[in-house]
Amino acid sequence: MHLRAPDESIDHTVEAVERFVEVAAERGIDEIGFTEHVYYFEQTRQLWSMPYHLERCVYDIEPYVDAVVEARRRGHPVKLGIEVDYEPGLEEETAEVLRPYPWDYVLGSIHFLDGLAIDQEPSLVGSLGEDAAWSRYYETLAGAARSGLFDSLAHPDIVKFFGDEIDWDWGAVAASLNGVALEVSSAGLHKPHGKLYPNSRLLAAANERGMPITLASDAHVPQNVGRDLDGAIEHARAAGYETVTVFDERQGRQEPLG
Ligand SMILES: [Zn+2]
Repeated sequence: MHLRAPDESIDHTVEAVERFVEVAAERGIDEIGFTEHVYYFEQTRQLWSMPYHLERCVYDIEPYVDAVVEARRRGHPVKLGIEVDYEPGLEEETAEVLRPYPWDYVLGSIHFLDGLAIDQEPSLVGSLGEDAAWSRYYETLAGAARSGLFDSLAHPDIVKFFGDEIDWDWGAVAASLNGVALEVSSAGLHKPHGKLYPNSRLLAAANERGMPITLASDAHVPQNVGRDLDGAIEHARAAGYETVTVFDERQGRQEPLG
C-alpha cells in the first residue's frame, strides 16, 4: 500500500493508516503492509537523477515511519515497508538511507533505466525495442536481486507495460534472481495492459526454484485495499504456490495462501 489520502495525495499520518486498516478489516484481510515510494523522501535526494524522482523528493521520511509504527502500537495489523527504486552503482548509498528505520520489508523495483521510463513514455521499450529493453530490464533486475537490499521484487515483469508478453527464457530469469521473493500483484489488472504481475510462466519458473512470493494490491488509496487479491492468489496457486511470505523485521516466514 502507498500511504495516501482518499484523493491519492500524500498523507503520512496515523489517521491515514487507520483508513486503510478499516477497509482491510471489512474485506477480511488479516494484515497490510505500507510501502511508500522511497523517492518521495528528501533523505533520498542524492540517489536520483531523473526529474520524475527529483520533483517528488520533498517529504520527510520520519512522519511516514512514525505513522505506521504508531498504528502498530495502537494494535493495528500493519507492517512498515518501503518500495525502493534500484539504482545500479548506488547500492551503498541506498543501504545508508534505509539503515536508520525499522523496516519489516523492503520492496525493490525498477521504474526507470538508462534515463528512460518503464511504465511511462518515453519508454525503454519504445526506444530500444522489446528484445533489447527486456534484456536490459532483466539484467538490471538480477542486479537488484543480488544487491541484498531487497526482500521482494515489486511487479517483477513490469517491462511488459508497453507491448506484448513476448517469448522469453523465464527459467534463466528466475535463476538470476538469487532466491529473492517475487511480488504477485493485482495492480496490473488496472493498467492498460490488464495483466497480473508477474506472468504465469515466470511465476511457475520461480516456484520450481523454490522462490517465495509476497502478495500485493498496490493500493494508492484506501478504497483499493485488497482489490482483486483473489485473482492474485488464484494466479499464485495455478503456478504451484501454497504459501505466501510474511515479513517481520526483515525475517520472512511462510503462511498458507488465502
Ligand atoms: Zn512500483
